[in-house]
Amino acid sequence: MIKNDNNLSFKKYNNSIIMEKKYICEWCNKGYKHPSGLSRHKKKCKGSKEDLKDYINIEIKKICEEEFIRKTFETIRENEILKIEIDRMKEYNEDVVLPGIEAFKRSSADKISELMEEISRLKAKIKAYET
Ligand SMILES: [Zn+2]
Repeated sequence: MIKNDNNLSFKKYNNSIIMEKKYICEWCNKGYKHPSGLSRHKKKCKGSKEDLKDYINIEIKKICEEEFIRKTFETIRENEILKIEIDRMKEYNEDVVLPGIEAFKRSSADKISELMEEISRLKAKIKAYET
């Protein structure tokens, strides 16, 4: 009876200690009263190495995924900018470049026909001189 009582009071005492241990190691769930105790424990905690590896792998994966998503959005944005630029160039081509080429063609044709006329005039003059 006495032993049981002692055991019970010990359990109560132990519980009160457990209650006070509010600094818990996230790798093995051991509790510490003070942050210094937890940080000392963490340096040699057996759970830490494997968990740290997993943690690093997860973090790397997260960073890669974020980078992938960022790059994807960047590419989409760049494509949209390029599309706008292409449309703008198409419009410029239709409004300025093509009419310019047409005008140049027309004026060249006019000049060529003027030259042809000049040449035939000269040819006629030469013929008249020869005869
Ligand atoms: Zn631990």
